[in-house]
Amino acid sequence: MSQTELPPTESVSPRPPAGPSDFFSELSHADDLYGKLWTLANNLWWSWHPECDAIFRDVDPIRWRQLGHNPVALLREMTPERLADRAGELVLHSRINYAYRRLQEYLTSSQTWASTNAGVLGAKPVAYFSAEFGIHESIPIYSGGLGVLAGDHIKSASGLGVPLVGIGLYYSQGYFRQYLDEDGFQGEDYLETKIENLPIQAALDSDGQPLTVAIDTRDGQLFAKVWLMHVGRVRLYLLDCNVDGNKPEDRELTSRLYGGDERTRIRQELVLGVGGVKALAALGIDPGVYHLNEGHSAFGALQVVRQLMDNDGMTFEDAVQLSARATCFTTHTPVPAGHDRFPPALVEEHLGPLRDALGISQKELLALGRVDPDNDNESFCMTVIGFKMSRCANAVSSLHGVVSRRMWQSMWPDRAENEVPIGHITNGVHVASWLAVQMQTLYDKHFHTDWKHRLQEPDAWQAIHDVDPGELWETHNSLKHNLISFVRRRFSRQCRRRGESDNVVEAARHILDPRVLTIGFGRRFATYKRANLLFSDMDRIAELLGNSDRPVQLIYAGKAHPKDEPGKKFIQEIANLRHDPRFAGRVAFVEDYDINVCRHLIQGVDVWLNNPRRPLEASGTSGQKVVLNGGLNCSILDGWWGEAFNGGNGFAIGNGRSHVSDEITDRRDAESLYQTLEEQVIPCFYTRDSDGLPKFWIKRMMNSISTLAWRFSSHRMVADYTAKSYVWAAGGVTCEMRYR
Ligand SMILES: *Cc1c(COP(=O)(O)O)cnc(C)c1O
Repeated sequence: MSQTELPPTESVSPRPPAGPSDFFSELSHADDLYGKLWTLANNLWWSWHPECDAIFRDVDPIRWRQLGHNPVALLREMTPERLADRAGELVLHSRINYAYRRLQEYLTSSQTWASTNAGVLGAKPVAYFSAEFGIHESIPIYSGGLGVLAGDHIKSASGLGVPLVGIGLYYSQGYFRQYLDEDGFQGEDYLETKIENLPIQAALDSDGQPLTVAIDTRDGQLFAKVWLMHVGRVRLYLLDCNVDGNKPEDRELTSRLYGGDERTRIRQELVLGVGGVKALAALGIDPGVYHLNEGHSAFGALQVVRQLMDNDGMTFEDAVQLSARATCFTTHTPVPAGHDRFPPALVEEHLGPLRDALGISQKELLALGRVDPDNDNESFCMTVIGFKMSRCANAVSSLHGVVSRRMWQSMWPDRAENEVPIGHITNGVHVASWLAVQMQTLYDKHFHTDWKHRLQEPDAWQAIHDVDPGELWETHNSLKHNLISFVRRRFSRQCRRRGESDNVVEAARHILDPRVLTIGFGRRFATYKRANLLFSDMDRIAELLGNSDRPVQLIYAGKAHPKDEPGKKFIQEIANLRHDPRFAGRVAFVEDYDINVCRHLIQGVDVWLNNPRRPLEASGTSGQKVVLNGGLNCSILDGWWGEAFNGGNGFAIGNGRSHVSDEITDRRDAESLYQTLEEQVIPCFYTRDSDGLPKFWIKRMMNSISTLAWRFSSHRMVADYTAKSYVWAAGGVTCEMRYR
């Protein structure tokens, strides 16, 4: 990373240090045990190393769970003396020393995938902008798939050694904590995170002072403090508006993710984009590539243009050319509500001063966010400016690429649809974060010793076919038991919190049966995801669940956006099934879906169900996490599954078509879902050989792992971004991605 470019100082006002880590900074010299653990807790690297996670857990298993798996909070409660006692009792010394040494080796090693494949990025890192980052459940600055994808992206960039820094926002209350009331209706709790309990410190400017950036609006300045978090080798910078100098309402600007109105939204995006680019400059970081993960950060491109004009004396047109060549833009959804649009007045209020500096008119600025520059009735769209300010754009699955080229074809009126310069790079997941320890042990035993260094290569995974089927099945079943214990614990706790009778709480402790085919469904309750599709015919699903020879049980989890009443109704319908004797004990809704709940679900289910209305699921990633742990996907041929399913590595719902009428599509898909379950999934699961093993099922598990795990890993994804976007953008070469 280049530290040579000195920042412009005009908009940088250092603030007094307020870093939560100051108190402990003397301990991070790490010649003592406490200091070493503190160092481990302050790099999120620990979260994808189970042996390190286990150290924190073993130090105090009860507090570990109560504190939401937060090692900083755990250590802050402990004195070095108490830790020394615990370490003595548990013989933790060698484990701590070993983990500490491995972290140091990791941080200093220079032999990485990127050192041979992305040398051109060298001194100029990729600046990866995202409105949310889902890294671990203890850091609540994400809401769902987009954030978890960004978290997985930076973890894989770290693993591959791709020089990259992340830029995001610090949300002091995160998204929201979900609970269901007595009627099964979703309520939302907003809890203030104690920042001193996060592995975060004030980012320092080139004078060693805590950094605050200022962003001009027509209505005064906005200030944001910059925090730094270490995610392996990657630095993640988070902007936080809760600082002196801001008006009271602006101090709360970044407190919630996806909360507030249009004005909150544009101000957050101004801070993320423009503030983010300013922060990089002030930190002395000179990116070679700007990657805009979704349109939220697209205003940043205008600040890059401004810097080129200010520093290099370029004209606006030349600066746009140059900055666009260095910018990659990823669009994430075909759902219209997923594309932020702002009225001209809000754009002028917030971008006006920057527009003055760029020397362009109001109409010229608005044109950057309009498909048709001359249409004064068009609102300003962040996706449109994302496309216009980049020369390298992609969707997140093959099908989403096709849909996006059609959707945005009018932006390139002289091109045929398949010539529209939007390619695709299919999403993937960070293997080490989502793989259960038990499965990892199995792979370690049977795979080539270097498999963890070749996650994105098909060869690394082929040895799954040599594993003894009984061993694979046993491993899966132990994970399924873990899941069921987890659901029972959560479910009974939910009942207790609602003040239900002792009988109900006790019954909740015994729901679900580990021998029964278990289907999981966990995701946002956006209506297009049709969480209730399985309940289109109540008699038919009751018959499947209650079947005495071949029963089925269901675990649901997911949040609806606070303003999404229909989504909340879906949750209520499903949660209240527990009052229906036909479903009681066979259906569980687990509240407060987050990375922790997701991890339990995807590691333990037999089948992961996904039935969105095609083609609205741009990619989906939770099913990819299931693959790693031996679960099978049963899904509509949409998003990633459309390119993943090969007939023998899971199950398909429907035939990859949809009708123009949603009603007809839903009816057809429901029928196909029931048929797939009745004719394929259930018989395959319950057909056992003389050893009691479902051998055709196990064959599918092996096929799923060998054909999908490498392809849908985020290592493969980041390697693709590097080869198809970053190295071109860093070289200043227009890298239009084309796929037909
Ligand atoms: C992986 C993940 C998602 C994304 O899952 P989809 O399949 O895209 O719905 C959402 N939320 C959490 C907490 C996740 O871990």
